[in-house]
Amino acid sequence: MNKNKTTAQNKKIAVLPGDGIGPEIVREAIKVLNVVEKVFGHKFDIETYPVGGCAYDLCGESLPKETLSACRSADAVLLGAVGGPKWDGLPGEKRPERALLGLRSELWLFANLRPAKIWPSLLDSSPLKKEIISDGIDILVVRELTGGIYFGAHSRSLDKKIARDEMAYSEFEVERIAKVAFECARSRNKKVTSVDKANVLESSRLWREVVERVSKEYPEVELNHMYVDNAAMQLVRNPGLFDVLLTENMFGDILSDEASQITGSIGMLPSASLRHDGFGMYEPIHGSAPDISGKNIANPLATILSVAMMLRSTFLLSDEANAIEEAVSNVLLAGLRTADLTSPDAAPIGTSQMGDAVAKAILKMVK
Ligand code: NAD
Repeated sequence: MNKNKTTAQNKKIAVLPGDGIGPEIVREAIKVLNVVEKVFGHKFDIETYPVGGCAYDLCGESLPKETLSACRSADAVLLGAVGGPKWDGLPGEKRPERALLGLRSELWLFANLRPAKIWPSLLDSSPLKKEIISDGIDILVVRELTGGIYFGAHSRSLDKKIARDEMAYSEFEVERIAKVAFECARSRNKKVTSVDKANVLESSRLWREVVERVSKEYPEVELNHMYVDNAAMQLVRNPGLFDVLLTENMFGDILSDEASQITGSIGMLPSASLRHDGFGMYEPIHGSAPDISGKNIANPLATILSVAMMLRSTFLLSDEANAIEEAVSNVLLAGLRTADLTSPDAAPIGTSQMGDAVAKAILKMVK
């Protein structure tokens, strides 16, 4: 590991732990970030702000103005998760999950990158048969994040018996996310699978036309189109088919959860939500897991790996990102597992013990 290559950086990180397991997993990610800071000589200015249900309890809003403005003035944002049964009865616009949509649209985070890869030492944790995953799984879901049905108009008829959710995409929105997917594919296995439902949806027909047009700028990248129902099936039948999976907002939300399960656990998958200039919000793909919160059993690795994505994508600190990923790999190779990953022959360790183990593994690499 080269700890002297990059010049020391001073970065401001807005941290939004959120609800449920959010604070527990974020605590471990900060532990790891503090070790990286010391080892590589950077200065990370970390400030914590409320978001989600806890923010609603505090000030009646799931995305307080102070939180949003702190995110705007930070160099990057680290988010835990929001939501929980306590706030399920709130009206739509007050719900904790609405804060996520607010952060994405207010910070212009249109590109959601969700890498789903199987760690060699976790092959046994995948629910798929060995012969299906023998060549490994290494998929990057590139999901459009600020358009589509989640951001369209939502309405109910006067008698409340008919509901509508509008799914709209503009050429501009499709073009900019398609470019991100092709750029990513260039530095990977040069294959983009664009997911749509063009046999039924007009927005998908536009999606397909624009993706075709963008692909002409990337002749070295192979493009194929797949209906979303087929993509859902192929992910469990033959995941090795995929390199970059380009999707609109809702299809990507669903397919990336499926992709996470085939890699072993939803507790392993990080994500980056990016703006055109590289600014990003980083978070695990899972939710606030209220069923296990406060028990010190949640897997913090997705959040720790989200920090690695932050260091690489927004701060351009690839040695530091590699150090975290290598430390995670070493910890897994040593047989350490949180409860979501355990096999019958391994006793699980807790959330904080997993964070300690990754932090120690980084320190061990530089000794
Ligand atoms: P979830 O992802 O929170 O949990 C699904 C299952 O995975 C649960 O059994 C949970 O225990 C398990 N799980 C999740 N993360 C884990 C981890 N790190 N380690 C071990 N196990 C883990 O999804 P859900 O139960 O559908 O949603 C719970 C709440 O989270 C809801 O309020 C939902 O709206 C919210 N949510 C938030 C986000 C976000 O903040 N980005 C994303 C999805 C869901």
